[in-house]
Amino acid sequence: KRQEVGPEEHGINPALVDERALNVVHTLKQAGFEAYIVGGAVRDLLVGLRPKDFDVATDATPEQVKGLFRRAFIIGRRFRIVHVVYGRGREHEVIEVSTFRAYMDNAAAEQVAGNEKTSKSELAGMKHAVDSTGRVLRDNVWGPQEEDATRRDFTVNAMYYDPETQIVVDYHNGIKDAKKLTLRMIGDPATRYREDPVRIIRAVRFAAKLNPLGFKLDPKTAAPLVQSQALLADVPQSRLFDEMLKLLQTGHSLATIEQLKGLGMARGIYPLLDVVVERADEPFVKAALQDTDRRVGESKPVAPSFLLACVLWADVRDGWAQRLEKKQHPFPALQDAIDDVFNARIGDVSGRGKLAADMREIWMMQPRFEKRIGSTPFSLVEQPRFRAGFDFMRLRADVGEVDVVLADWWQEFSQASDAVREDLVVQAR
Ligand code: ATP
Ligand code: MG
Repeated sequence: KRQEVGPEEHGINPALVDERALNVVHTLKQAGFEAYIVGGAVRDLLVGLRPKDFDVATDATPEQVKGLFRRAFIIGRRFRIVHVVYGRGREHEVIEVSTFRAYMDNAAAEQVAGNEKTSKSELAGMKHAVDSTGRVLRDNVWGPQEEDATRRDFTVNAMYYDPETQIVVDYHNGIKDAKKLTLRMIGDPATRYREDPVRIIRAVRFAAKLNPLGFKLDPKTAAPLVQSQALLADVPQSRLFDEMLKLLQTGHSLATIEQLKGLGMARGIYPLLDVVVERADEPFVKAALQDTDRRVGESKPVAPSFLLACVLWADVRDGWAQRLEKKQHPFPALQDAIDDVFNARIGDVSGRGKLAADMREIWMMQPRFEKRIGSTPFSLVEQPRFRAGFDFMRLRADVGEVDVVLADWWQEFSQASDAVREDLVVQAR
């Protein structure tokens, strides 16, 4: 079933291919390995979008890949992949290189899972292990390209592009599906959702992302989505959290929410996502979602902390007001209200330290914007997270929660020279 498709048929514009990805493929091929751009980048190229990141697949092992590049790092425990790094600082770019991996069909997987006597060391030597519900627990064993294609999720995500020969290798009619604007799960959709329920969320994400181009989920791919949703309960919270963020950062977040509603999945994917969906029509949250979409559209970085701070602001504000009524001092009251919201809404998602700290800073800055006396504005404007705090306040002003005059004042203050700033503080009295 392997098909090789040339440029006259697939029509990929080679100018959209990132120079660094090209370099990675070239270096691997020079060393005698197979190497292709793979996955979402090929999909995006095929439909004429500029991919936001490039993944490369190869038959070289991670160690062999690492040996070929000056700055390359083997990462990951579940999947060992290589990050090849170009440039430094904010401008740096990572090309992810993964070795072709095997796919074990479910029957073989169930056999492994069903044999309770399988020892740990035996398991370690096997291709995969699957838990009792059919979930693949280990899938980091190398295999041929064809199996690497089959283990992927959608047919349009399972193609390999050689930017030098301009040939696309396609095992699952991905090109045909792309032309038909169809998002089709490889294999039996219900089985694939069971293997990895995160694919349920991915289906929604790609449907929303490609919807403006006219893509639709294939009916057979869409049909088991709702009944499979309960499987998400067993997915680690941190993975669900990450997928939720990706879902909100497609650049079409409002369309994504419509997509969720249309598919009957407005609730139940992840508690915090339920809150986003519930509040998407509130002016403040809607403005935040639109702002996120605009930034993605302009290829600007988006901070999930900002969006989540907006989504949960109503809870923080209400909790704060209640505590103020009980005559608690404003700052500790706000602090406590924030703690309550973290406990109730974010829960124990490990590795969220930075994100939570950023959200807290944005919220804690809000009362400080009201204090335009003495040196307060001067120190606030120097805070590293001032911009996020200010943007948040601007959004509050847009929906009438704070005076527009105050937002304008801070806009001016932040851009002014020290002398002008002194004047502004005097005028603010
Ligand atoms: P994006 O443009 O949002 O990055 P993507 O398709 O590149 O989309 P990634 O999460 O970067 O998505 O994954 C890269 C590729 O790995 C996918 O295109 C797909 O082939 C494969 N893949 C990722 N996650 C899964 C999964 N849960 N099940 C099967 N294949 C997956
Ligand atoms: Mg990707």
